[in-house]
Amino acid sequence: LLNDKGERFMEKYAPDKMELAPRDVVARSIQTEINEGRGIGGKDYVHIDLRHLGADKIMEKLPQIHELAWKFLHVDCRTEPIPIQPTAHYSMGGIPTDKDGRVLFDGKKEPVVGFYAAGECACVSVHGANRLGTNSLLEASLFGRRAGKAMRKFLAEYEEFPELPADSAEEAIKEVEGLLSANGNERPVDIRAEMQEKMMAKCGIFRNAKDLGELKTELKELEERYKKNIKLDDRSRKFNFDLIEALELGHMIDFAEIIVEGALNREESRGAHYRVDFPKRDDKKWLRHTLAWKRDGKIEFDFKPVVITRFQPKERKY
Ligand SMILES: Cc1cc2nc3c(=O)[nH]c(=O)nc-3n(C[C@H](O)[C@H](O)[C@H](O)COP(=O)(O)OP(=O)(O)OC[C@H]3O[C@@H](n4cnc5c(N)ncnc54)[C@H](O)[C@@H]3O)c2cc1C
Repeated sequence: LLNDKGERFMEKYAPDKMELAPRDVVARSIQTEINEGRGIGGKDYVHIDLRHLGADKIMEKLPQIHELAWKFLHVDCRTEPIPIQPTAHYSMGGIPTDKDGRVLFDGKKEPVVGFYAAGECACVSVHGANRLGTNSLLEASLFGRRAGKAMRKFLAEYEEFPELPADSAEEAIKEVEGLLSANGNERPVDIRAEMQEKMMAKCGIFRNAKDLGELKTELKELEERYKKNIKLDDRSRKFNFDLIEALELGHMIDFAEIIVEGALNREESRGAHYRVDFPKRDDKKWLRHTLAWKRDGKIEFDFKPVVITRFQPKERKY
């Protein structure tokens, strides 16, 4: 990884592990270089240079990286460094489940009968605050398989499926109809872009109380605009991506609000959650999971302890 001066800057931040330090550490290091004006040409990216591997090895071991850089940037990484910047690439946390994918109603013990989740949307609690490289395979493949097996067993054994209430789809129908008939003057895609930009700037790599507080208010405003002022370009009832994107946006705003409020509450730094105003990890107060619910527009929090088994938490040093 190189900055504008051609320095291999990870030497400063993680002299032992260098570029192979955990991704939260590398992401913060890159962002620090950018924030302090050492991005390439003073811009918001640095370089990853693969040329030392040689063209043959790049094509043999990293053909997808070569293809990505070429397709998106027209950069041939055999002969040029690739511009990169940090991004959100995983949701640590998610729908609380047990190790068989059963969704836990209270986030702790009580399963919702017949409801399973696995993969990135779920939280079995294997990652903590920092998913390590390749470990989404664990979530998707291992716990996906366990959830599949548990579902098969459940279907074979469970006999008394309750009747669904006649109005069980009512809320969803109301939501869809509301979006299809919405008559405002903003496109959901514009609200989404604004939300993404704000989340990245104020709830991204570096966080602080002031930014998070402002963001909380800004998200409320975006939510209001979403509820009162959107309009879909496509109002058809078949294959309508506009509608799907609008539905997703509503859910994304809910999640953004929960993430921001959770980040504001957690006055410490842990894994990918880095508070500039609370840079130390605080195990005494915060070695616990946050559970969040949004009910009637209000976010409620609860907590559950982290189960420590073989490895005791210790200070991270690289
Ligand atoms: C840039 C980047 C790099 C990554 N690199 C790595 C890596 O090197 N190693 C690693 O282990 N992990 C990596 N990950 C993470 C990994 O790719 C994901 O965690 C994993 O693919 C998630 O798989 P999933 O099946 O749980 O979810 P997804 O792949 O997100 O699948 C969910 C599916 O559900 C569909 N869906 C959503 N809503 C609905 C609905 N209402 N009805 C029907 N379908 C719906 C979606 O269209 C999607 O197809 C990376 C992620 C990113 C973004």
